[in-house]
Amino acid sequence: ERLTNQAANPDDKMLELSLRPQYLNQYIGQHKVKDELSIYIQAAKKRQESLDHVLLYGPPGLGKTTLAFVIANELEVKLRSTTGPAIEKAGDLVALLTELNPGDVLFIDEIHRLPKTVEEVLYSAMEDFYIDIIIGQGEGTHSVHIPLPPFTLIGATTRAGQLSAPLRDRFGIIEHMNYYEEEDLQHIIERSSLVFDSKIKEEAAHELSKRSRGTPRISNRLLKRVRDFAEVKEEEEISLETTQQALAQLEVDDAGLDQVDRKLLMMMIETYQGGPVGIKTLAANIGEDQETVETIYEPYLLQKEFIKRTPRGRAVTPKAYAHLGIKMMEN
Ligand code: ATP
Repeated sequence: ERLTNQAANPDDKMLELSLRPQYLNQYIGQHKVKDELSIYIQAAKKRQESLDHVLLYGPPGLGKTTLAFVIANELEVKLRSTTGPAIEKAGDLVALLTELNPGDVLFIDEIHRLPKTVEEVLYSAMEDFYIDIIIGQGEGTHSVHIPLPPFTLIGATTRAGQLSAPLRDRFGIIEHMNYYEEEDLQHIIERSSLVFDSKIKEEAAHELSKRSRGTPRISNRLLKRVRDFAEVKEEEEISLETTQQALAQLEVDDAGLDQVDRKLLMMMIETYQGGPVGIKTLAANIGEDQETVETIYEPYLLQKEFIKRTPRGRAVTPKAYAHLGIKMMEN
């Protein structure tokens, strides 16, 4: 089982729903983002206007989708949820937008994957709440002007740099989501264990928080597996020992690195003497696509200072050699 992939089975989906915080004051961590959003939401409500469009960007699993639902709840409006690749034609977008009530939220996940033609139609919708579409063929071709209710677009993406400038410029509110502090993750783990109806010792929750790559989605996933171990051992409260045992079994090390992270570092060390290595080469060597390496593995390894960026590519740091217990070669 890959730790970084999205939960897929229906039971997991139900659990995800109950796990989701509903309001900003239940949303843990991301203090800067929350404080700013709280002001903008209050102001929009006071003016009885729709909230300005919001772009949320940052690594997967940090709670962008969760936050979008929280924003809609705080605004006391409905949220329609879709993804960039699911909107294939301008007509699909029109259908979504004309169904909204004034002030509602349209959430588009993976907004960087919106087809270009749809993206262009979105500009006028975002800016002036109308869409002009061309219908008919040949002689009968004409343009139809469709006014829209004022709405808030919330877009989520793993990287703001993947968006075209004209689209990015139409978001009045741009928020960067960071990896969570250990303290906040521990809090999220304790909250999730209540939802799972299982008890976890404080030191066990702390251990999990250190090994979750700063990512709540991973915390929750690891918690479920650790809970299975505790269940089989008939442990009433998940212990530190069981947590460490489960994580060893899952091959998550004490810096939160998984097999792929370690494979990547080892490959850089063994094949490229620690680098620098270009991102394309890295991805090809470990059999992952470039986007996965760029959005999942690289940001965490950078944040942990196990690799660094150089003008000629990524290089392994002395800290990574020490972590892996490998002696650096002198050159
Ligand atoms: P993204 O859209 O950024 O990829 P997401 O919103 O899909 O992430 P989830 O996978 O839903 O992230 O996050 C997993 C779970 O983690 C949520 O269902 C929720 O239980 C919990 N969670 C995430 N962020 C927070 C938070 N800030 N406070 C409390 N719980 C959180």
